Amino acid sequence: MARDRLVGLVFDDRYLTHNTGLDLIEDRSPYPFAEPIAHPSSPALVGRAKHLMDLFGIAERMRRVDPVLASDEQLTVYHTPEQLARVTQIAQSDGGDTGAGAPIGRGGDRVARLAAGGTIAAVDAVMTGSVDAAYALVRPPGHHAMADEGMGFCVFNNTVVAARQAQLVHGAKRVLILDWDVHHGNGTQAAFWADPSVLFISLHQDDLYPPGWGAADQVGIRDGEGFTVNVPLPAGTGNRGYAEAFAGIVTPIALQFDPDLVIVSAGQDASVMDPLARMSLTLAGYRMMTEAMMAVAAECCAGRLVLTQEGGYAPQYAPYCSAMIAQTLVGLLPDGEWIADPYGERAVTQPASVELGRDAASAIERVVSIKQRYWAI
Ligand code: ZN
Repeated sequence: MARDRLVGLVFDDRYLTHNTGLDLIEDRSPYPFAEPIAHPSSPALVGRAKHLMDLFGIAERMRRVDPVLASDEQLTVYHTPEQLARVTQIAQSDGGDTGAGAPIGRGGDRVARLAAGGTIAAVDAVMTGSVDAAYALVRPPGHHAMADEGMGFCVFNNTVVAARQAQLVHGAKRVLILDWDVHHGNGTQAAFWADPSVLFISLHQDDLYPPGWGAADQVGIRDGEGFTVNVPLPAGTGNRGYAEAFAGIVTPIALQFDPDLVIVSAGQDASVMDPLARMSLTLAGYRMMTEAMMAVAAECCAGRLVLTQEGGYAPQYAPYCSAMIAQTLVGLLPDGEWIADPYGERAVTQPASVELGRDAASAIERVVSIKQRYWAI
């Protein structure tokens, strides 16, 4: 008899020690305020997500998966030895930038390795069958990190090294990476640019960050041509537009690719309250996206699905999005209710939740016309 479906949760209090410091005012010369401002990538974000999962009784229905420190061998499947040495050296000082906007504090190399190792542990647990799916609630995030530099709050590319773990250690032939963080996953795209064994699909706000990355006509090269699928969406695209993009692009391409594992770079910064972006997703949007990826995984690879935490900067809202993702994975709680949306009634009635905007519709049409060269959509 089949056992109950098990969902793993990777979390460790050491993630809360990743110190991004203050947004340094001396680096921004015409800055009019005397007092420094906290860096947007705050430990409160994943901490509050975990607290919510505890308070709602979700975490207790998940199986704890312990993170490990990613080894040099695991990190150098993507990162250069020089970058590893640089991160170590900065962590031995009072901290600093590991590249382009990816600060760590003293000892931050260990936390960054624990984030990569947490995502790897989630992949190990899913690929060996000790859990069916897993959520790696890690910090710092990873998807902007390039081979030779940290970038955009990301030190090591957790998703890239975890995808390679699935291939090199567990024999996965095809890995799907779906990146719904509102920013483009440039580091992940770069890693698999010429590689048809990893399908990279990114939905993001059009040309937000990093500039120049994530246009629809960036499709990969050589053998990898067609296996990078960028879906740039206009600011204000909400649940309805994302649903359209999933139904018309993401799900059909994912099913044709037929992955052995699905990894989601799960950034909750496309939310309606995020200070760093201009999308309008609500909890129902995050539930829809999670359900869509669960369905792809169920159809193609016995449900094998790993989500790893990327961005999400609204302290009053992003943690609820993460809790909703976890609740979707474990199923409804005994009270039979979904978590109530803290955005209130407006989460349901706002235009972006019910209407497909004209800009979003034409952005999706454009992606479809480019992707029809490679996929039956
Ligand atoms: Zn982001």
